Amino acid sequence: MSESRAVSVERGLAPVLRARVCQAVQVLERVEAELLPAALASSFSAEDMVLLDLIRRHAPGIGIFTLDTGRLPAETYALQQQVLERYGPVVRTYFPNPAEVEGFVAHYGANGFYHGIEARRACCHARKVAPLQRALAGQRAWLTGMRRAQAVTREEVVVEGFDEHHGLVKVNPLAEWREDDVWAYLRSRRVPYNELYDQGYRSIGCAPCTRPVAPGEDARAGRWWWEASGQRECGLHRAPAGATGWLKCAAKP
Ligand code: SF4
Repeated sequence: MSESRAVSVERGLAPVLRARVCQAVQVLERVEAELLPAALASSFSAEDMVLLDLIRRHAPGIGIFTLDTGRLPAETYALQQQVLERYGPVVRTYFPNPAEVEGFVAHYGANGFYHGIEARRACCHARKVAPLQRALAGQRAWLTGMRRAQAVTREEVVVEGFDEHHGLVKVNPLAEWREDDVWAYLRSRRVPYNELYDQGYRSIGCAPCTRPVAPGEDARAGRWWWEASGQRECGLHRAPAGATGWLKCAAKP
């Protein structure tokens, strides 16, 4: 989509947000044109809901999948149902291998992830990382809703880079977005979102590992809050490689 057409499609938005949306749409359209098969990994976060809405409107050739860990909050399942009713069956769900979860529970206990980083990473591996590897098999690119401003662990997020661990291009169309941009877009389009955000949550994962954050804390402070801040990633997102130069998205709105 040319910038002028993208602008016309997003006419109702404020200028700064419209510029960010146009940039994101251009990224999505280039992924659709040059990098299929590609898919968004969605946890139904606010950021992922922005991307789901943009993909379905502007680049429907991009797939969308989610990882159902088996420990998600009821509110996330309620949102999944809303998405099905509004957008149709556009999200593919990947579940963990039962044998891996059974092995974790037998060794560490159902809530063993509270007892140390090794146990926590083992749970995340069985319930998230291994299913992600199945979801990414055969893809040329994957997309995420990661933003630089979300946490200290995400300050190096780039719009596009090469994910050496998975061997494919990783695209983060909202890397430069602010939290306010995300919510302005969702409100302007009346996109459904997880109601836990209205209860003080700012980043939502599994129920036993997520809690609301206090004013002034970063958005991911409520994830694995018992661990040091530099460890609070689940293993899905390794340190990014440098920008590949495939996309030129340096222009700031
Ligand atoms: S976030 Fe918690 S419950 Fe979910 S996979 Fe990781 S350790 Fe397990």
